[in-house]
Amino acid sequence: MISEKIVNNLSRSSWIRAMFEEGAKLAQKYGADKVYDFSLGNPYAEPPVEVTEALKKYVLSEEKGLHRYMNNAGFPEVREKIAKSLKNQSGVTLTQQNVVMTVGAAGGLNVVLKSILNPEEEVIVFAPYFVEYSFYADNHGGKTVVVPPDVTTFEPDLRAFEDAITPKTKAVIINNPNNPTGVIYREEKLRAIAEVIERKEKEYNATIFVISDEPYGEIVYDNFKVPSILSIFKNGIIINSFSKSLGLAGERIGYIAVSSKIEKVDMLVDALTFCNRTLGFVNAPGLFQKVVGDALEAKVDVEAYKKRRDFLYDHFTRLGFECVKPQGAFYLFPKAFMEDDIAFVKRALKYNLLLVPGTGFGCPGYFRISYCVKFDMIENSIDAFAKLAAEFK
Ligand code: PLP
Repeated sequence: MISEKIVNNLSRSSWIRAMFEEGAKLAQKYGADKVYDFSLGNPYAEPPVEVTEALKKYVLSEEKGLHRYMNNAGFPEVREKIAKSLKNQSGVTLTQQNVVMTVGAAGGLNVVLKSILNPEEEVIVFAPYFVEYSFYADNHGGKTVVVPPDVTTFEPDLRAFEDAITPKTKAVIINNPNNPTGVIYREEKLRAIAEVIERKEKEYNATIFVISDEPYGEIVYDNFKVPSILSIFKNGIIINSFSKSLGLAGERIGYIAVSSKIEKVDMLVDALTFCNRTLGFVNAPGLFQKVVGDALEAKVDVEAYKKRRDFLYDHFTRLGFECVKPQGAFYLFPKAFMEDDIAFVKRALKYNLLLVPGTGFGCPGYFRISYCVKFDMIENSIDAFAKLAAEFK
């Protein structure tokens, strides 16, 4: 009855869902306050006041046409604001012609992949990676090629990357700051990646796009900066959303911004606009395009996330977990005390701890904690983590 491919995909994508279902069972048995659910990247934080103010303004406005279709790429004035803001950050000239509003980063990634992929072309991702990438590539006839992780830094391994490029490589996806590690790829690393790509493009007489997925770009700590990919990669495409930076995950609003240096960039933007339409999104939600246009300079309380990161990182290192200190996003990716991360995550259930195995991100032996949750829950969970760690002492 159901497509065989989807049945197969359902079993591959079940980790976060399995944890979610497990959590519901545990909450029923022990009470929700006794369950420590670190499985979902669903921000607890409310949107900043700029968002609610803008929302009120537009909902109550007399402006006509607010709720009608617009250009499939989105409202020109909102795209212009985004182009200006990106130009201020990167120094690279952009106009509204470089920007397409999308249904979140997920919508944006699908629109880009639909626009560029021919059947069987390859999309390179660096483990650990956001598991949906492989489903998105597959949606549009592409094949995902996974570069194994460098677990010392969780930055891309250049040698392994070069080995992964073939004449069929069409795109590379980077995710900065990274889900699940919280690592920000440094500018030197990105420049080294760009050098490899340029060399391979010449060798294969091909175009390789670099798609930089940046929904956590505003959630960075300790003055770290996310390097601007538009000044590093000739064929750079930014994917961004307001799900995390403005706490609007349920409203499905984001954008694609393409580098002006891409050959035939106008044709690419036409393709993106067409695919936004024909994938059935038609256009990004109109009301929220306007809202984020007004609230572009606002962001959620990053200090509140930093407090969570510091608290968890300090306790985890004290308890003997090995992990890289996250520079951004709201995830921690420690090494499990067992090689079998799935068995480890099952063991954690004994203490009502819901974690996601690294296997789900192409990186076995590790597990992910999502700390975009209430601080009380984090504080109360430390005892459970201590008991779990004690089993392996
Ligand atoms: N990319 C990464 C790395 C994510 O973690 C997520 C969501 O968690 C997305 C994309 C999708 O975000 P959006 O809600 O903007 O579609």
